[in-house]
Amino acid sequence: MFERKQFENIWEGRIEPFKIIGKVYFAGIFQASTHLIDTGDGLILIDPGYRDGLYLVIDSIYKLGFKPEDIKYVINTHWHGDHTEATRALTDLSGAKTLIGEYDAQRAERYFKPDILIHDGDTLTLGNITVTFMHTPGHTKGTVSFFFDTEEGGKVYRVGMFGGAGANTLTKGCFDYDNCREDYRKSIERLRGERVDVFIGNHVWNNDTEKKGKVLRETGENLFIDSALWGRFLDFCEKRLDEKIKES
Ligand SMILES: [Zn+2]
Repeated sequence: MFERKQFENIWEGRIEPFKIIGKVYFAGIFQASTHLIDTGDGLILIDPGYRDGLYLVIDSIYKLGFKPEDIKYVINTHWHGDHTEATRALTDLSGAKTLIGEYDAQRAERYFKPDILIHDGDTLTLGNITVTFMHTPGHTKGTVSFFFDTEEGGKVYRVGMFGGAGANTLTKGCFDYDNCREDYRKSIERLRGERVDVFIGNHVWNNDTEKKGKVLRETGENLFIDSALWGRFLDFCEKRLDEKIKES
């Protein structure tokens, strides 16, 4: 768990798209996670990923039975290129509006023009889905996390994503901004206050997306439903922060 794989070429990270639960789908690749929410009135797409990987994401959108034109909003969890490089091309294609945290907006402009700035506590409603945002700085200054409900089999599940968990920018000399380590710890504490039944990863290694998707496809068992994983992942993030502090 929480381990990464490296690939030389973007296409080696191809993952067959699949429904995670309810109205939530995985349409990304190993190197960059992309998720779709089918709101009943169009799609919300989370993190288009690398520009080189966009053809795989678009192929996955079609394979899931949707079209790029169905995308109404593109949420960018933070400004880094592995999440936002393809945003401009995808919104050109779909006409979707782009969202990003207010403190990452300026730096995101190298990849796309933000239409809507996200502030702590903001919500986005489309169709029958309301996404609630939390400003969780640390990995970058404007990182946003979010939560929403989805239903399956008569049960409502709370879905959550930590929008920027990477410790790379917590390494001395690589800080995104001053006080990022203090903010990161505070963000983790706030995130611990949320109940999350289905944790969707900002990167596939966050929640074993690929392996769980395979199990789901082959056996029907949904390992994404795991209320304990959210807390375990946050423990892991905090431990890594402590290690970074110890190193320097
Ligand atoms: Zn990042």
